[in-house]
Amino acid sequence: MTIKNIRLFGDTVLTKKADEVRDFDKELQQLVKDLTETMLEAPGVGLAAPQIGVSLRVFTYCVEEDRPGHLINPILQLSENRQDGDEGCLSIPGLAFNTDRSYGVIARGKNMYGEDVVIEGSELLARCIQHETDHLNGVLFIDRMTAEERKTAMKEIRESEWFGLATENGAKPTFKVSPHKTFGLGL
Ligand SMILES: [Zn+2]
Repeated sequence: MTIKNIRLFGDTVLTKKADEVRDFDKELQQLVKDLTETMLEAPGVGLAAPQIGVSLRVFTYCVEEDRPGHLINPILQLSENRQDGDEGCLSIPGLAFNTDRSYGVIARGKNMYGEDVVIEGSELLARCIQHETDHLNGVLFIDRMTAEERKTAMKEIRESEWFGLATENGAKPTFKVSPHKTFGLGL
């Protein structure tokens, strides 16, 4: 098992634009495996490579009972209709906030063998794909909020037990978060 430590809000890798994947090699396949295992163990519905400290355009997802999937170098086509709903992030543990997203998405990219892939999703899957693609652009879901909502969110983040524990080398900080609050929403 290769469970990686999930980087927390405050780690600079989370605000950096990740690089395109060019080599579809063994190393990339291992990265997809690590991401999948770390996501399932969290548990989360999605995880992007920067969240485990790797600045590459790769994410995994696992929505509802479906098998886990992954996407590399994604390009999104978003629906015009929107959805409301709570969203969480494994890098901002224990907190969930309403986040406006497109209702549907068509995501084009590659799988770990370099083959073309298209994922079409709505509701939670669409939310997940948008959240993870944002991670690849150094964007966190709190950046999608209105100034006022962000202020409230930042206050909650500053008051969290884990705040300030982010470490550049990804060493796992010790903190406790209610395991139920964002269950099913960790992205
Ligand atoms: Zn996230």
